[in-house]
Amino acid sequence: MLELRAITAGYDPHAPAVRDASLTVSPGEAVGLLGPSGCGKSTLARVAALLLRPDSGSLLLDGEPVRRWRHRAPRAQRTAVGVVFQQPRLSADPRLRLRDIVAEPLRATGRRAEAADRTAELAAAVGLTSDLLHRRPHEVSDGQLQRACLARALVLRPRWLICDEMTAMLDASTTAALVAVVEDYRRDTGAGLLAVGHDQVLLDRWCDRTVHWADLGRAEPGTGRPRPAA
Ligand code: ADP
Ligand code: ADP
Repeated sequence: MLELRAITAGYDPHAPAVRDASLTVSPGEAVGLLGPSGCGKSTLARVAALLLRPDSGSLLLDGEPVRRWRHRAPRAQRTAVGVVFQQPRLSADPRLRLRDIVAEPLRATGRRAEAADRTAELAAAVGLTSDLLHRRPHEVSDGQLQRACLARALVLRPRWLICDEMTAMLDASTTAALVAVVEDYRRDTGAGLLAVGHDQVLLDRWCDRTVHWADLGRAEPGTGRPRPAA
């Protein structure tokens, strides 16, 4: 299970973007997190992806609390969660070719030997041709770059995938294609999904259950911690 327990997090400890938010994603489960722009969804997604240390509360992966964050997190925890953000241009190194963007996590974890095979496998899954794999970000569309970012998120076979507005900038056919890639990955691996977004129709179609931001922590079974009023 991926458990966010009573998370308070943000960029200014006196005015946290997220207050006391609790949410659990079980293995194989697809959970949608729905809320208006600016409410704190991305901040919570960054905590769940081990990219932002919360001010208080805890993140547990299969019962193990995360104690160190970002590159200091233990490899087993860092690689257990994959993440895709809304804007591929902000999360992909503009100097790299797409094939190296996809392979980045393999290099970072000393698994360079697998890079060629695994990149080819993922490129086929997300629909990137070898021509596109040799291009750099400025030579491809947002949708093509987002395909590479999704491949990067899956390359280490994470047990949880966080999709933070992954398709918000994409057209309908690319959206459908990327959602299908995630569904196939989940079916093959039993991974859990946290899909963050503002489009209830998409989240309801995609996910087993959709949690509204305003209800975070309240309706969660097992967290044992009701959200305080005010
Ligand atoms: P959402 O994903 O729901 O749109 P965010 O988590 O991105 O919401 O933002 C929540 C709040 O935190 C907003 O008020 C936003 O302006 C602020 N915020 C987001 N990112 C940063 C940042 N890097 N530095 C400072 N404030 C930020
Ligand atoms: P630090 O600044 O603490 O060294 P980094 O920014 O390098 O941390 O991020 C740590 C890890 O998180 C790296 O493996 C990096 O690839 C990953 N990461 C950071 N930001 C993003 C992002 N926007 N999209 C995808 N992965 C990211």
